[in-house]
Amino acid sequence: MTDCLFCRMVAGEIPADVVHETERTLAFRDIAPQAPTHVLVVPKDHHATAGLLVGADPQLLAEVVAAAHAVAVQEGLATDEAPEPGYRLVFNSGPQAGQTVHHVHGHVLGGRALTWPPG
Ligand code: 5GP
Ligand code: ZN
Repeated sequence: MTDCLFCRMVAGEIPADVVHETERTLAFRDIAPQAPTHVLVVPKDHHATAGLLVGADPQLLAEVVAAAHAVAVQEGLATDEAPEPGYRLVFNSGPQAGQTVHHVHGHVLGGRALTWPPG
């Protein structure tokens, strides 16, 4: 989709600070970080939300989650054995959740204590 920001980043048309890449996923630093680690993980194929992605290609959603975990390990937020010190993986879906880019993306947030409930 040429009018989609994250499709254009996947295509290399808009620069991205890439921290992790697989055949079907890309992870890059958020332009407005909300925590010391704030990385967005996207499927290279365009799907609007996690709910639409899981219906269309559940294996690809699993690859996005695996990539998010790999980023967390790379950033020192977890190991394959334990979620220490820990991180948050967020998929905002729809207007009330504050989704602004309509290409599914998991936010990997960590590096500070994160409060709950979210705003
Ligand atoms: P959402 O609100 O849709 O869950 O998250 C969209 C995220 O994309 C926001 O955290 C926002 O800072 C980030 N973002 C928006 N434009 C760009 C951009 O051009 N580059 C990068 N790296 N992140 C962006
Ligand atoms: Zn897209």
